[in-house]
Amino acid sequence: MTRAISILGATGSIGASTLDLIRREREKWRVVALTANCQAGELARLAREFGAEVAVVGDEACLPALRDALAGSGIAAAGGAGALVEAASRPADLVLAAIVGTAGLAPTMAAIEQGTTVALANKEALVSAGDVMTAAVARCGTTLLPVDSEHNAIFQCLAGNSLDHVRSITLTASGGPFRDWTYEQLVAATPAQAVRHPNWDMGAKISVDSATMFNKGLELIEAHHLFPVGHDKLKIVVHPQSVVHSMVEYRDGSTLAQLGPSDMRVPIANVLAWPARMDTPCAPLDLAALGELTFRAPDEQRFPATRLAREAVEAGGSAPAVLNAANEIAVAAFLAGHIPFTRIAAYVADVLAAAALPAPANLAEVIAVDGEARAVARAMMELA
Ligand code: NDP
Repeated sequence: MTRAISILGATGSIGASTLDLIRREREKWRVVALTANCQAGELARLAREFGAEVAVVGDEACLPALRDALAGSGIAAAGGAGALVEAASRPADLVLAAIVGTAGLAPTMAAIEQGTTVALANKEALVSAGDVMTAAVARCGTTLLPVDSEHNAIFQCLAGNSLDHVRSITLTASGGPFRDWTYEQLVAATPAQAVRHPNWDMGAKISVDSATMFNKGLELIEAHHLFPVGHDKLKIVVHPQSVVHSMVEYRDGSTLAQLGPSDMRVPIANVLAWPARMDTPCAPLDLAALGELTFRAPDEQRFPATRLAREAVEAGGSAPAVLNAANEIAVAAFLAGHIPFTRIAAYVADVLAAAALPAPANLAEVIAVDGEARAVARAMMELA
């Protein structure tokens, strides 16, 4: 029996890791839809290789290039936000949501509304939509499988246990490329330095998020929605080796951890095969060669992002969506050379203080909050 899969964000880092695994057991999968934003040539190449039904670019201006690249293949081509939603709504056994940022929100919600199992990498969508997304998951009877390595680790450590018995959940953080830098060094950090992660090979946005620790902040909010044990039970510890991917402590004093190599194909394989297991080409863990695993408390003076995220979770309402939108604008401004690294968190704090927006009750309201927070952020950063 083959399983049908759609991959949103197929040309990205998570998309490539997913397709690498599917390529290794090609006979088990039927690829329905593959999407990108504008990498039309690469998307067409993948769509041809995997025999996709449809290939979609989010940016409509890139549709002519996609059509040209798919000419004669029999694969349908489409473009624009509506086409992404249509692609995500097509019948499939699994939708892998790996678009970066809130651009992935509407298609992810469309897959949830169809009742299709969603493997979620696109953390920004859950951070923005929060209760709106979890309510849709419950209403539609959808299963949300976490791809993020930390959340996938927690998911595995919780298997067969009740949330009622959880004393705490600890998210591990590598600390990013700047974990040992002084504040003065951080002020001068360049985009090229920020995207060079010591342990993981990832897209530019999440790499900067890892450097600021906003990635861990977003993950704290993500964990709050995926594993509702109460935000006071969520902890963060810096673990530079990225071998322990997260931990769950139970009321009897047992702590379960999931360990593995720093390779996203491990958590992706977990969601592809769930509830079974599949082979991966990932190097086995060699603890003796590693020698030691270390842990330390996060430094919220140099990296205020996790404190801001915790405050946003506690505030609830629109605060997580505002934090996420402000961070997306600030990261793009940093990558474009418009603002220094240390201003990313400073601007997010200022936008959170300035944008007192109502709590969103549905997808349209989440998108409205996201848009307003982006406008406030752009005005503050004096961006066009
Ligand atoms: P990449 O930047 O490598 O890829 C992003 C993908 O999204 C590409 O396919 C890109 O298309 C597409 N895309 C970007 N903008 C839009 C848009 N406006 N509309 C439609 N599609 C768009 O990101 P990653 O793969 O690193 O990350 C994807 C998601 O997974 C993020 O939310 C990230 O936080 C999460 N994640 C990533 C991990 C990793 O190891 N990379 C680990 C855990 C979570 P195009 O190529 O055409 O630009």
